[in-house]
Amino acid sequence: MKQAALALLQSVFGYPAFRGSQADIIDHVVQGGDALVLMPTGGGKSLCYQLPAMLRDGVGIVVSPLIALMQDQVDALAEVGVRAAFLNSTQTFGQALAIEQKMRQGELDLVYVAPERLLTQRCLELLEVCPISLFAIDEAHCVSQWGHDFRPEYIKLSVLHERFPQIPRIALTATADQATRAEIISRLQLENALQFVSSFDRPNIRYRIVEKASGRQQLLDFLQAEHVQDAGIVYCLSRKKVEETAEFLNQHGVTSLPYHAGLDIKIRTRNQARFLREDSIVMVATIAFGMGIDKPDVRFVAHLDIPKSIEGYYQETGRAGRDGLPANAWMAYGLQDVVQQRRMIEESEADENYKRLQSGKLDAMLSLCETIHCRRLHLLRYFGQHDSTQPCGNCDVCLHPPSAFDASVVTQQLLSAIYRVDQRFAAGHVIDVLRGIDSERVQQWRHDQLSTFGIGAERSEAEWRAIIRQAIALGLVNVDYESYNALKLTETSRAVLKGQQSVQMRKYEKPQKPSKKKASVGYIETDLSPQGQQIFEKLRSWRMETARLHNVPAYVIFHDSTLRDIAKANPSTLSDLRGVSGVGEKKLATYGEQIVELVTSL
Ligand code: ADP
Ligand code: ZN
Repeated sequence: MKQAALALLQSVFGYPAFRGSQADIIDHVVQGGDALVLMPTGGGKSLCYQLPAMLRDGVGIVVSPLIALMQDQVDALAEVGVRAAFLNSTQTFGQALAIEQKMRQGELDLVYVAPERLLTQRCLELLEVCPISLFAIDEAHCVSQWGHDFRPEYIKLSVLHERFPQIPRIALTATADQATRAEIISRLQLENALQFVSSFDRPNIRYRIVEKASGRQQLLDFLQAEHVQDAGIVYCLSRKKVEETAEFLNQHGVTSLPYHAGLDIKIRTRNQARFLREDSIVMVATIAFGMGIDKPDVRFVAHLDIPKSIEGYYQETGRAGRDGLPANAWMAYGLQDVVQQRRMIEESEADENYKRLQSGKLDAMLSLCETIHCRRLHLLRYFGQHDSTQPCGNCDVCLHPPSAFDASVVTQQLLSAIYRVDQRFAAGHVIDVLRGIDSERVQQWRHDQLSTFGIGAERSEAEWRAIIRQAIALGLVNVDYESYNALKLTETSRAVLKGQQSVQMRKYEKPQKPSKKKASVGYIETDLSPQGQQIFEKLRSWRMETARLHNVPAYVIFHDSTLRDIAKANPSTLSDLRGVSGVGEKKLATYGEQIVELVTSL
C-alpha cells in the first residue's frame, strides 16, 4: 500500500518523498482506520486525505468551513489531474445537481462540502447511495467552543459516525493545545482514532519580537528593508487600525488591502482573491482573516498588536512560508499592548472562569515576548514538545542575544514610586515622578516632594516603559482598569521591595532602524546564480500570464519553490524537467514544452 501512495505522490503531485508522518497517516486511513492529525500550518495536511481518497474506492468527502476557498482548492486539484468538485451555497441548483450525479456514478475522487450543507437531509441521503472512500474533517478545531473559530454545525458532525460507522474518518487541525484536542475527540466521537501529532516546529520561520516605538513606521522600515514586493499579512487588533495601517502602507508605496469583519462581504471576498492571485500584496487584517488560506509564498506575517494567546500567535505566524522557503514572523509590542489586552479581558462579559483562562493565556504570551531565551524552544515547550533542547539559531534571541541584568534595585525604585503616589496613577505619571519631571500633574499633587522624585532620572522614558512592562509580565505590578489604569502593587511585590527576591530583566536596547538589504524580491532568491535569477523572473511572468488565462491563483500553476528549482535545473529537454519537485505528470504534459522553450530561448 505504501508503494502505491508513493507512486501517486510522485506522478500526480510531483513530490519526491513524503514529509514527516504523512506516509503513516495515509497508510492507516487507506486501511480503513480513523485518524486525528495535528500538524502545524504548512505541514502538509491536505495530502493526508487526498491520497487515501484517490487510493480507496468511492468519493472522499471533505468537510470544510471555508466556502470562499473551495473553488481554488478544486482548481488546484484539477491542475494536477485529480477529479474534484465542491457543494456549497455559491452554486446554482443545476450545478449542484450535476455534481451529485457525478458522485453517484463514482466519477469524482474528492468533494468539498460546507458543514451546513452536509447536514441537510438531502445531502445525507445522497451520501447513503454514493460509494464513499472517507470523510475528512478539516479545521477540526472549529468544534471547540472556546476557540475563536467555533462553528456550531461542527458539533453535529458526529452524525457521520452514527450514520456511516464503517467509513474511515480523518480529522485535521493545526491547533495544538490539549484542551482542544480532547474536545475534538469527544465531540466527533474519535475515541478510537489513532492520533498523529507532528512536530510543531516551523524551522524556516524566523521569529522576531521588537520593542514598539512608532509601530507603523517600524513596520514600514522592516518591509522596506526585507520585503520589497513580497506578499505578507499584517495583523492589527481593531478594524480602525486595520484601515489606517493599510492606508499608511499604500501612501508609502506598499500595495496593501484591508480585511476585517466590518467590511462588506463583497469587498472582503475581492480583497482576499487579489491577495491570493497577485504576487505581492500585503493584507492588513484582523484575526478574521487567514483560516485555510493556503497561499504558499506568504513571506512574512507581522503583528502590530500582541495576540491574545500563544495559540493565536502560532496559528497566525504559521501562515508564513508554507513553501518551506525562509519567512519572517515579526511583531512589535509595547506597554500599551499589555494594558489594552488586560483591560479587554477585564471588561468582557464572560464569566470569571473564562476570564481567568484568558488572562493565563495572555500571561503566557507575555512571557514569550519577554523571554531572554530561544523563542522557538519557548514555543515548542508551550505545545508540550520538549524533545528539542538546542537553541534554534533562527530567532532574534539566538541571532542577537539580549543581555539580562539584575533589575532588583530598579524594580524597588519602581515599586516604591507606585506606593508613594498611593497606587492611584498610571504609568505616565509614575515615570514622570521617577525621572523627576516637573509636570503640571506633579505640581498639582506636589509629587516633587516625594522621596522617590527623580531617583530614576538617568533612565529614558522608553527604558522605564520597558521596565514597567516586564514588571507587569512578571506579576510584580498590576494595572487597575477601574481607576484609569493606575499601577498597583501585588502580593509578590513585597518580597522584592524587602530585598528578599531578586529580579532579572532584559536590558533595554534602543530600537534600531533595520539596514536596507538589496531592494527587490531578493530576500529569498539569493542562492540563485545571476542566470538562474533571470530564468526565475522570466518564469514568474510566464506564470502570472498563465494564471490569469486560467483564472486561478499563480501558486496553483507552480509554487515559487518549484520555479526556483526549475531555474536551478536549467532544463533543455522535457526529461530534464521531470523530477523537479512540484512537477507531476499532468503539469509536465500541460506546461513542459512552454517552459523548456522559455528557458532555452534565454
Ligand atoms: P497544511 O494544510 O497542513 O497547512 P498543505 O497541505 O497546504 O498544508 O501543504 C503545505 C504545502 O506543502 C503545500 O504547498 C503542499 O503542496 C506542500 N507539500 C505537502 N506535502 C509535501 C511533500 N511530501 N513534499 C513536498 N511538498 C509537500
Ligand atoms: Zn532561537
